[in-house]
Amino acid sequence: MNDSLEKLVELLTKLPGIGPRQARRLAFWLVRRDRSWIEVFAATLLESRNDIQDCAFCRRLFPKKTASELCSICMSEARNPAQVMLVERDVDLENIERTGSYTGRYFVLGGTTSPLEKEPEKKVRIRSLLHILGNSAHPVTEVILALSATSEGEDTILYIEEQIKKIVVERGITVTTLGRGLSTGTELEYVDKDTMDHALKGRR
Ligand SMILES: [Zn+2]
Repeated sequence: MNDSLEKLVELLTKLPGIGPRQARRLAFWLVRRDRSWIEVFAATLLESRNDIQDCAFCRRLFPKKTASELCSICMSEARNPAQVMLVERDVDLENIERTGSYTGRYFVLGGTTSPLEKEPEKKVRIRSLLHILGNSAHPVTEVILALSATSEGEDTILYIEEQIKKIVVERGITVTTLGRGLSTGTELEYVDKDTMDHALKGRR
Protein backbone atom coordinates (compact mmCIF):
# COMPACT_ATOMS: atom_id res chain seq x y z
CA MET A 1 0.00 0.00 0.00
CA ASN A 2 1.24 3.48 -0.75
CA ASP A 3 1.41 6.29 1.79
CA SER A 4 -1.76 8.12 0.83
CA LEU A 5 -3.79 4.92 0.91
CA GLU A 6 -2.36 4.15 4.36
CA LYS A 7 -3.34 7.62 5.45
CA LEU A 8 -6.88 7.09 4.14
CA VAL A 9 -7.13 3.83 6.11
CA GLU A 10 -5.93 5.60 9.21
CA LEU A 11 -8.55 8.34 8.78
CA LEU A 12 -11.34 5.84 8.21
CA THR A 13 -10.38 3.99 11.40
CA LYS A 14 -11.50 7.11 13.24
CA LEU A 15 -15.11 6.65 12.05
CA PRO A 16 -17.47 5.38 14.75
CA GLY A 17 -17.77 1.59 14.73
CA ILE A 18 -15.07 1.07 12.08
CA GLY A 19 -12.15 -1.22 12.91
CA PRO A 20 -8.85 -1.50 11.00
CA ARG A 21 -10.08 -4.31 8.71
CA GLN A 22 -13.26 -2.53 7.74
CA ALA A 23 -11.30 0.69 7.25
CA ARG A 24 -9.04 -1.10 4.79
CA ARG A 25 -11.99 -2.53 2.89
CA LEU A 26 -13.67 0.90 2.77
CA ALA A 27 -10.46 2.58 1.59
CA PHE A 28 -10.15 0.19 -1.37
CA TRP A 29 -13.82 0.67 -2.19
CA LEU A 30 -13.52 4.44 -2.09
CA VAL A 31 -10.42 4.75 -4.25
CA ARG A 32 -12.03 2.58 -6.92
CA ARG A 33 -14.89 5.06 -7.44
CA ASP A 34 -14.93 7.38 -10.44
CA ARG A 35 -12.91 10.52 -10.04
CA SER A 36 -16.11 12.62 -10.43
CA TRP A 37 -17.86 10.64 -7.68
CA ILE A 38 -14.92 11.22 -5.33
CA GLU A 39 -14.95 14.93 -6.12
CA VAL A 40 -18.66 15.20 -5.28
CA PHE A 41 -18.12 13.14 -2.12
CA ALA A 42 -15.25 15.30 -0.86
CA ALA A 43 -17.00 18.55 -1.76
CA THR A 44 -20.27 17.47 -0.08
CA LEU A 45 -18.44 16.51 3.07
CA LEU A 46 -16.77 19.90 3.24
CA GLU A 47 -19.99 21.73 2.39
CA SER A 48 -21.88 19.88 5.13
CA ARG A 49 -19.22 20.89 7.60
CA ASN A 50 -19.44 24.54 6.56
CA ASP A 51 -23.24 24.60 6.71
CA ILE A 52 -23.63 23.47 10.27
CA GLN A 53 -22.82 24.87 13.68
CA ASP A 54 -23.02 23.87 17.34
CA CYS A 55 -26.06 25.19 19.20
CA ALA A 56 -24.91 27.51 22.00
CA PHE A 57 -27.28 25.83 24.46
CA CYS A 58 -27.80 22.15 23.63
CA ARG A 59 -24.61 21.68 21.55
CA ARG A 60 -26.38 19.80 18.80
CA LEU A 61 -25.33 20.45 15.24
CA PHE A 62 -27.81 22.47 13.24
CA PRO A 63 -27.92 24.10 9.79
CA LYS A 64 -26.50 27.61 9.65
CA LYS A 65 -29.53 29.33 8.14
CA THR A 66 -30.05 32.24 10.47
CA ALA A 67 -27.76 34.41 12.52
CA SER A 68 -29.07 32.71 15.66
CA GLU A 69 -26.70 30.93 18.00
CA LEU A 70 -29.53 28.63 19.05
CA CYS A 71 -31.06 25.71 17.16
CA SER A 72 -34.78 25.55 16.31
CA ILE A 73 -35.56 23.40 19.37
CA CYS A 74 -33.86 25.77 21.81
CA MET A 75 -35.48 28.77 20.07
CA SER A 76 -38.98 27.34 20.15
CA GLU A 77 -41.41 29.00 22.56
CA ALA A 78 -43.38 25.76 22.71
CA ARG A 79 -40.52 24.06 24.58
CA ASN A 80 -39.98 24.19 28.31
CA PRO A 81 -36.49 25.67 28.82
CA ALA A 82 -36.42 24.62 32.49
CA GLN A 83 -36.39 20.94 31.58
CA VAL A 84 -33.15 19.60 30.09
CA MET A 85 -32.71 16.06 28.81
CA LEU A 86 -29.15 14.75 28.60
CA VAL A 87 -28.38 12.50 25.63
CA GLU A 88 -25.11 11.00 24.43
CA ARG A 89 -25.15 11.95 20.77
CA ASP A 90 -26.99 14.07 18.18
CA VAL A 91 -28.58 10.95 16.76
CA ASP A 92 -30.17 10.10 20.15
CA LEU A 93 -31.71 13.56 20.23
CA GLU A 94 -33.12 13.04 16.75
CA ASN A 95 -34.59 9.67 17.68
CA ILE A 96 -36.29 11.05 20.78
CA GLU A 97 -37.46 14.12 18.88
CA ARG A 98 -39.04 11.89 16.23
CA THR A 99 -41.39 10.40 18.85
CA GLY A 100 -42.80 13.88 19.57
CA SER A 101 -43.27 12.91 23.23
CA TYR A 102 -40.80 15.29 24.82
CA THR A 103 -41.40 19.04 25.09
CA GLY A 104 -38.36 20.29 27.02
CA ARG A 105 -34.87 21.10 25.81
CA TYR A 106 -31.88 18.80 25.34
CA PHE A 107 -28.20 18.79 26.02
CA VAL A 108 -25.89 16.64 23.87
CA LEU A 109 -23.05 15.26 26.00
CA GLY A 110 -20.99 14.25 22.99
CA GLY A 111 -20.15 10.75 24.20
CA THR A 112 -19.64 8.53 27.22
CA THR A 113 -16.91 8.12 29.79
CA SER A 114 -15.70 5.42 32.18
CA PRO A 115 -13.94 5.32 35.56
CA LEU A 116 -10.66 4.51 33.74
CA GLU A 117 -10.85 7.60 31.56
CA LYS A 118 -8.08 10.05 32.48
CA GLU A 119 -9.70 13.10 30.94
CA PRO A 120 -13.45 12.53 31.13
CA GLU A 121 -14.08 16.22 30.44
CA LYS A 122 -12.82 15.61 26.90
CA LYS A 123 -15.36 12.81 26.35
CA VAL A 124 -18.38 14.48 27.90
CA ARG A 125 -19.20 18.22 27.69
CA ILE A 126 -19.35 18.60 31.42
CA ARG A 127 -18.15 22.22 31.54
CA SER A 128 -20.87 23.43 29.16
CA LEU A 129 -23.42 21.48 31.16
CA LEU A 130 -22.32 23.06 34.44
CA HIS A 131 -22.45 26.45 32.76
CA ILE A 132 -26.08 25.88 31.69
CA LEU A 133 -27.12 24.60 35.11
CA GLY A 134 -25.44 27.53 36.83
CA ASN A 135 -27.06 30.21 34.67
CA SER A 136 -29.46 31.98 37.00
CA ALA A 137 -30.96 34.07 34.17
CA HIS A 138 -32.49 30.88 32.73
CA PRO A 139 -33.00 28.52 35.66
CA VAL A 140 -33.19 24.80 35.00
CA THR A 141 -35.51 22.88 37.33
CA GLU A 142 -35.12 19.34 36.04
CA VAL A 143 -32.33 17.33 34.43
CA ILE A 144 -33.47 14.10 32.76
CA LEU A 145 -30.78 11.49 32.18
CA ALA A 146 -31.56 9.69 28.91
CA LEU A 147 -28.41 7.67 28.35
CA SER A 148 -28.33 4.20 26.85
CA ALA A 149 -28.81 1.18 29.10
CA THR A 150 -25.24 -0.04 28.61
CA SER A 151 -22.31 -0.13 31.03
CA GLU A 152 -20.90 2.97 29.28
CA GLY A 153 -24.23 4.73 29.81
CA GLU A 154 -24.33 3.74 33.49
CA ASP A 155 -20.70 4.84 34.06
CA THR A 156 -21.43 8.17 32.42
CA ILE A 157 -24.52 8.69 34.59
CA LEU A 158 -22.39 8.13 37.72
CA TYR A 159 -19.78 10.60 36.47
CA ILE A 160 -22.37 13.28 35.67
CA GLU A 161 -24.21 12.83 38.95
CA GLU A 162 -20.96 13.33 40.82
CA GLN A 163 -20.03 16.41 38.79
CA ILE A 164 -23.39 18.16 39.09
CA LYS A 165 -24.04 17.14 42.72
CA LYS A 166 -23.13 20.51 44.21
CA ILE A 167 -24.90 22.74 41.71
CA VAL A 168 -28.03 20.56 41.81
CA VAL A 169 -28.34 21.06 45.58
CA GLU A 170 -27.55 24.78 45.36
CA ARG A 171 -30.14 25.41 42.65
CA GLY A 172 -32.77 22.94 43.79
CA ILE A 173 -32.65 21.03 40.51
CA THR A 174 -34.40 17.64 40.31
CA VAL A 175 -32.42 14.88 38.57
CA THR A 176 -34.48 12.10 37.04
CA THR A 177 -33.76 9.04 34.90
CA LEU A 178 -36.01 7.82 32.10
CA GLY A 179 -38.17 4.92 33.24
CA ARG A 180 -37.10 1.88 31.30
CA GLY A 181 -40.07 0.88 29.26
CA LEU A 182 -37.07 0.33 27.03
CA SER A 183 -35.87 -3.23 27.55
CA THR A 184 -32.22 -3.71 28.50
CA GLY A 185 -29.87 -3.25 25.61
CA THR A 186 -32.50 -1.52 23.47
CA GLU A 187 -30.96 1.76 22.60
CA LEU A 188 -32.79 4.95 21.85
CA GLU A 189 -32.40 4.23 18.17
CA TYR A 190 -35.45 1.98 18.17
CA VAL A 191 -37.63 4.00 20.51
CA ASP A 192 -41.23 4.67 19.41
CA LYS A 193 -43.80 7.13 20.74
CA ASP A 194 -45.56 4.74 23.15
CA THR A 195 -42.29 3.59 24.69
CA MET A 196 -41.06 7.16 25.02
CA ASP A 197 -44.34 8.35 26.59
CA HIS A 198 -44.06 5.49 29.04
CA ALA A 199 -40.41 6.18 29.82
CA LEU A 200 -41.15 9.86 30.40
CA LYS A 201 -44.10 9.15 32.67
CA GLY A 202 -42.11 6.56 34.57
CA ARG A 203 -39.11 8.79 35.20
CA ARG A 204 -37.85 8.92 38.74
ZN1 LIG B 1 -30.17 23.77 20.75
